[in-house]
Amino acid sequence: MDTTHKVTEFPSFGEKPEQGCKHIIILGDGMSDHAVERLGGKTLLQAADKPMMDRLAREGRCGRLVTVPEGFPPGSEVANTAILGYDLNEVYEGRGPLEAASIGYDMADDDFAIRCNIITLEDGKIITHNGGNLETEDARVLIDYLNETLAAPINERERKQLGISAETSFQRVKFICGIQYRHLLVIKGGNKHIVCAPPHDHPNEAWRPLLVKPEEASVVSGFPADPTEASVVSGFPADPARLSPQQTADLINELILRSQDLLAKHPFNLGRAARGERQANSIWPWSGGYRPSMQTLMQQYPQIKSGAVISAVDLIQGIGKYAGLRIIKVPGATGLANTNYEGKAQAAIEALKTDDFVFVHVEATDEAGHDGDLELKLRAINYLDQRLIRPVVEAVEKMGEPVCIAVLPDHPTPVELRIHVNEPVPFLIWHPGIVPDGVQRYDEISCVSGAYGLLRLNQFIQTFMSIGH
Ligand SMILES: [Zn+2]
Repeated sequence: MDTTHKVTEFPSFGEKPEQGCKHIIILGDGMSDHAVERLGGKTLLQAADKPMMDRLAREGRCGRLVTVPEGFPPGSEVANTAILGYDLNEVYEGRGPLEAASIGYDMADDDFAIRCNIITLEDGKIITHNGGNLETEDARVLIDYLNETLAAPINERERKQLGISAETSFQRVKFICGIQYRHLLVIKGGNKHIVCAPPHDHPNEAWRPLLVKPEEASVVSGFPADPTEASVVSGFPADPARLSPQQTADLINELILRSQDLLAKHPFNLGRAARGERQANSIWPWSGGYRPSMQTLMQQYPQIKSGAVISAVDLIQGIGKYAGLRIIKVPGATGLANTNYEGKAQAAIEALKTDDFVFVHVEATDEAGHDGDLELKLRAINYLDQRLIRPVVEAVEKMGEPVCIAVLPDHPTPVELRIHVNEPVPFLIWHPGIVPDGVQRYDEISCVSGAYGLLRLNQFIQTFMSIGH
């Protein structure tokens, strides 16, 4: 019998199954890909120079994972949530609540948090979703201004309309400054059953027809292609603690219209107009929801006493926060090809000294896929391998305690398609003492014959967390 292909019952950890084992997941966003003619029919992971991932695959075990549940779009927030084992049907609340967690805003149960872009309108159309590359310092001035000018009068009128006492209505609306053009609108008692238009999906379209509408309570359909754009509910009961969908839509639309008056007169935009530059002249809220009801990973896996998430992406930080992980912000982590790989590696190594569970997310591979840049994506995979995974593995081998490592993407972002696709992703799991499964390399094709086979959704984290326990 060829021992390199021996498959043993999983998962005992080495010779000391009673011993605790720390866990680290290293995720290359959008890393997997398709076969490409320019690479002689190889996939990107087959062609990339990534000796460390290949070594871990050779010494460990591989498989493939379905990361996107049926009916959901293959978005990173969906796939990363599923990889951590959560049921999207139970916990998915859109971007607003995830970004709230990343910003550090602790949502109350009756809060409704919605992503609030500051965008550019011209001649009745959406020109950019990013307010003419708005910088965070400038955005902070505008957000402060909106909080001073907009929240109070709106609340007063709304209070009378709804017959709510002055005390409870006082904090109905709040803007919270995020990063660049990406901010947050929190509406106390707002209703999530509304239909909003993501502004990046509607460039050069008239904005008025895209204003917020209440969901049709009677619509029953599969999960929409974009969860922010349509309804999945089969009738929702009126909640006395919340505004109705219509009231919420009316309130947001009034905020949008008034923001346009106010922002057009602000010195920042007057200055931009004088220089012939694009103005940041309207708020545009989309993708809102309530505080997700997520059990922490510690509640689900008692072997995890504390954990950390390392990512430049606010959505991933938000998922980690609700999963009970502390957010480690690494200086120079940009989400782009120039991201601070070494800084992330060091942060992960430090976290492994104090925490039992570390989730490291690198965005650069996905960005290169969206750019359709083959060389850049190959380089991003190589950088992830050599500048992040290698130092982590070297440190883990010197540590006095066992660490279990997993490497995987969240979804493919093929360079020739430039969008996310919904296909299983290859993964590898490695730890000291693991019995190899014969897979020699980490790539889309080799992992098909891995010992774990094809796993679905939460089966990955359950398998991974059972190692060493
Ligand atoms: Zn992407």
